[in-house]
Amino acid sequence: MAFLKGIELQGFKSFAGKTVMSFPARVVSIVGPNGSGKSNIIDAFRWVLGEREAKQLRGGTLENLIFAGTPKRAAVGLAKVGLLFDNADRAFPVDSNEVFLERRIDRAGTSQFSINGDDILMRDLVPMLARAKLGARGLTMIRQGESDVFVASSAEARRLMIEEVLGLKEYRIKKTQAERRLESSKINMDKVRAMAEELLPHLRLLRRQKQRWARRSEIESELRTLENSFYTTQYGKLAKELSSAERPPESIMKKRGALEDEIKKLDETARQIDKPSVEANRSRAVRDEVGELFRRRGALAAESAKIEAKMEMLQNRPTGSAFDHDKFFETAKGLVSEMEEAAGWADVERIKTALRLWAAKLSKFFSQAPAENDGALAALIKNKEAEVRKIDARIKELREEEEKLARESENANKKFRELIGLIEEKKNEVRKIDVDVREYSFAVERVVLRMEEIEREWEGIGRAKNELKNMVSQGSMNTLVNGANTSEAERRMFRLRGELSAMGDVDEALVREADESETRYEFLSRELTDLDRAIGDLKKLITDLDTRIDGDFKEAFKKINDEFNNHFRLMFGGGKARLKLERKKTAEAPEANSEGEFVATAESRHAPENENAIEGVEIEINLPKKKISDLSMLSGGEKSLVSIAALFALIAVTPPPFLVLDEVDAPLDEVNARRFAELVKEFSSKTQFIIVTHNRATMEVADALYGVTMADDGVSKLLSMKFEEAK
Ligand code: ATP
Repeated sequence: MAFLKGIELQGFKSFAGKTVMSFPARVVSIVGPNGSGKSNIIDAFRWVLGEREAKQLRGGTLENLIFAGTPKRAAVGLAKVGLLFDNADRAFPVDSNEVFLERRIDRAGTSQFSINGDDILMRDLVPMLARAKLGARGLTMIRQGESDVFVASSAEARRLMIEEVLGLKEYRIKKTQAERRLESSKINMDKVRAMAEELLPHLRLLRRQKQRWARRSEIESELRTLENSFYTTQYGKLAKELSSAERPPESIMKKRGALEDEIKKLDETARQIDKPSVEANRSRAVRDEVGELFRRRGALAAESAKIEAKMEMLQNRPTGSAFDHDKFFETAKGLVSEMEEAAGWADVERIKTALRLWAAKLSKFFSQAPAENDGALAALIKNKEAEVRKIDARIKELREEEEKLARESENANKKFRELIGLIEEKKNEVRKIDVDVREYSFAVERVVLRMEEIEREWEGIGRAKNELKNMVSQGSMNTLVNGANTSEAERRMFRLRGELSAMGDVDEALVREADESETRYEFLSRELTDLDRAIGDLKKLITDLDTRIDGDFKEAFKKINDEFNNHFRLMFGGGKARLKLERKKTAEAPEANSEGEFVATAESRHAPENENAIEGVEIEINLPKKKISDLSMLSGGEKSLVSIAALFALIAVTPPPFLVLDEVDAPLDEVNARRFAELVKEFSSKTQFIIVTHNRATMEVADALYGVTMADDGVSKLLSMKFEEAK
């Protein structure tokens, strides 16, 4: 039962029209003259199986895959190649017994795959083909002139060729994908880590500031509580003092009024008493009159004394003595001035004595003067005396009146003094009341002033006046602050305010920035955790895949090696050959761990890895009869033989579903070409062969033979030559 059932070409390279080639047999040979288009069929296989490079398909550009037209045949716009597979064993994950894989390309370069008519993306197709052990390159698809491909390839490429046949390419693809994802995850992680590390110092700063502000709200709340209790207590106490301050009773004020009235009345009375009175005027008049009377009386006494002295002189006058006029006038002049002085005297006795003295002085002269009439003089004196008596009587009268008046005045004064005393007493009482009243208002004023001061302080700390009043009136006074710890509370408030001002105001924008930065940092941290986990998972996956690939590979490798030696000996008629695994690439140095906070933890969980190191397959040979061990020293044919030996060794251990070989036998001599044909025949039970060949031996072992020709129109045509026979 053939796995590959056929190929369809249309518009592909020289196959302008639709060409269907079915493969009912295990060995199908394609033959034809040079340039007829045989290799184009091989290209078609490679292209439909996912070859991307135009160069690999012998076309400068992908457009060259489309039939370009010839002078006799017009170009086409679309190339299609389809492979028909038997899918009874579900080699393709499609629920169908046959799978038709097709690839199309138009001149715009649009290429599209489909499976059973359904489009499929190349990236989905590639693992599917790998699982079915189908590839566009390698040992299963050997191009013309590349029969030595196994020898000519690098050790790593050899290994990949073997892996493809072993069906390990699927894991290799997965590994590559995982490695790519790992790489991009690492790059992402580096980026995220760099962002986190860049953010962190600023975030720390913002965090510290925010913490300070968090402490600020604690302080603010403590301060507020303290202020509330402190001020409400103070204010409340004063309000209580104010309401309970002892107001002077109403009766006192009434009494004060009455006292004032009384004082007014008493004042009036005193004023009346103090007014200059009739009595006082009278008293003055009496005094004046008495004075006047005394003056008059003095004058009368003087006149009387004068007369008496005259009389005495008359009586005692010496007879015959001469009268000295000059002396008399001088004496008289002196007497007159003395008398004028004496007229002012009040003392009667003094006046009398003076009068007697004057009389004596004068009488000396009268004794010399002619005698006068004594009788007339006596009468004169009598008159004078009578007048004096009258005056005395009057003076006596006036004295009595004066005394009376003095008594009356004394009484009035006494009364006045009494009144003044009384007024003073009343005034003292009023003053006492005033002191009490003033004390009360002082006390009230003091309390009010203190309350105003507290209100100012309260407003000064940015609070509303009403709030304080409301709190106090609602009785929400905090009793925590009482007299005992008031100063302590004040000190504490002072300290808290100091702390707050040192802290500065809360910058809302900065808080927002801190929150945003925090969110961003959390996001980055989560990203790092996710990436870290993803990296861990990918590394684990890669390790698992490596284990799987290595395990499967090494298990098959030993058998392949044995088969290789056998086939080598068969091909070369002796000698020795072996495949050797060799790791050329050295392990990468472990990455230095970052010192970032989060990053360090994430990174440190992963062991350093050994990526991309692959054990390549080296070939060691010992040719019979030759001392050649270096592959480069082999001839072209020898290289092809070694490659073919490897190919059959591989088929012997794990046969691929089919092989497409383009003139692999070309460099071989007749003997070796026959050997090759025999091997093809031998292994055709294990794998299907599609072979382009010019070699008769190969053609002979083919079950089906297709001929390709190209006529004048430049279009390849297919001839089935051995088909019937093969059947
Ligand atoms: P040989 O036996 O010498 O290897 P071959 O049979 O393998 O020959 P191919 O190389 O398959 O021949 O075919 C080459 C021919 O295909 C050439 O004649 C070339 O002009 C023709 N060809 C290639 N590409 C195109 C294309 N895009 N349009 C038309 N013809 C093309």
